[in-house]
Amino acid sequence: MRPTTRARAFVAAILSVSCAPPASFAQQASVRPRVHVIATGGTISNMGNDPRRTGAELVAGIPGLDQVAEVTSEQFSNVASGAVTQEMLRDLATKIRGLQKEANPPAGVIVTHGTDTMEETAFFLDLTVGGCAPVILTGAMRQANWAGADGPANLLNSVRLAASPDARGRGAMLLMNDEVFLAREVTKSNTTRLNAFSAPEAGPAGVTDPDGIFFRAPPPATCAPPLVDIDRVESFARVDIVYSYISADSALVDALVDAGARGLVVAGVGRGGTTPSQGRALRRAVDRGVIVVVSNRTGGGRVGRPTNPEILRDLPVGAGATIGAGDLNPQKARMLLSLALASGLKPADIATLITSVQ
Ligand code: ASP
Repeated sequence: MRPTTRARAFVAAILSVSCAPPASFAQQASVRPRVHVIATGGTISNMGNDPRRTGAELVAGIPGLDQVAEVTSEQFSNVASGAVTQEMLRDLATKIRGLQKEANPPAGVIVTHGTDTMEETAFFLDLTVGGCAPVILTGAMRQANWAGADGPANLLNSVRLAASPDARGRGAMLLMNDEVFLAREVTKSNTTRLNAFSAPEAGPAGVTDPDGIFFRAPPPATCAPPLVDIDRVESFARVDIVYSYISADSALVDALVDAGARGLVVAGVGRGGTTPSQGRALRRAVDRGVIVVVSNRTGGGRVGRPTNPEILRDLPVGAGATIGAGDLNPQKARMLLSLALASGLKPADIATLITSVQ
């Protein structure tokens, strides 16, 4: 069982929430389930010089979609994904949790989104939404007015996935190019190709073939509540990522701490290493109360307890100020650290939370 699945199963076991479709969903099995699309923008909506397409237009542009599910939609924003903010993500998570509490909740929710930062939004929603109904992130690598645009197929497959009982309890997922990835595992690994997403440590969790949707593992027996309570999140503290490379010095780390960073994620070399100069600056940051999480820049593999001698010098084992990111990439580790700080967790609890997700 994969770590996030384990963490979810653990929380769900305590709260005993069944993953079976709710009665209203089961009664509707003979009729179409409802899937709700929240459009945020991105290439799937891009029309070159013409105005971006709305979510309603994307849905209306797919013939036969209404035979798969009753599809409702709303426009949340219409921006490139580089313009998405954490405040927007907090509002998005709150909105989706509100949908889940409706008398007749949707079977699943789809968020159309630019692909550039899609993995960060997917992970944020995975941590903050919880429950049984899946949240599917999708988009397009080719804009709507280009030959071979992939948006319509991705959206159609997302509706099939969101409506599928087999998707329940799996949290947030990302669907592109007929492949389904778990939010925690996926990353954008190509700038332009249709197969731009991958999960370096795990591979796709499933596929959307013409004859059905197939997952490698069965769904969890119970649905877990969110690991992070979004209602506790009011504002986000500054959390930055520091890249390491040959001859990197201390200037950036010191400047970020002076700028008010409360957390730093290291995109370290190899198993989380830095230059000596950076390491000493990170240790100064730790001494000023900054939480440092050590990830890596390789695109795969894990960072357990960091071993960088400059950061760790004189720190008692278990002091907790430096935390290994496991196999979370820097941008995922940053999102988790940011949510942990925004929830007001203490350093020891932050370390526990981050470790529980690995
Ligand atoms: N620039 C776009 C975005 O992330 C790229 C895309 O959607 O693929 O919003």
